[in-house]
Amino acid sequence: METQEPKRCHVCALEVEAHMEAWCNWCGNLYHLNSRADLPGTDCGQVWINEEHLALEFACNVCLAPPAEPGSLDDVLDLVEAAAAAGMTPAALEALAASGGVRHRRTAGGILLFRRGDLPGGVARRG
Ligand SMILES: [Zn+2]
Ligand SMILES: [Zn+2]
Repeated sequence: METQEPKRCHVCALEVEAHMEAWCNWCGNLYHLNSRADLPGTDCGQVWINEEHLALEFACNVCLAPPAEPGSLDDVLDLVEAAAAAGMTPAALEALAASGGVRHRRTAGGILLFRRGDLPGGVARRG
């Protein structure tokens, strides 16, 4: 039996076109990830290569950006947040971390964490 219900993004609740489908490795929900450079689309999450397992990892923005807790966690950033703060792509920052160029911590779940003060440059890019 087929359903005519459109597939909806877990992050923004809008319909997900076929070329935008991705499933989060953490929560398992569908989200927008544009796999076609020639088609317009907004990403509602990220994909990157896990260097230990040489596998693609997917995570939606809900899992990448949990609600901010007051106080002590403010300067602990995940890869995407840290990359944005450093004006780098997540891939470039992960490569830098892998080469020992920036202090970081990898959680048991494989997520890279950084402290804001350890990030290189801090040059914010716009546009
Ligand atoms: Zn979405
Ligand atoms: Zn998720």
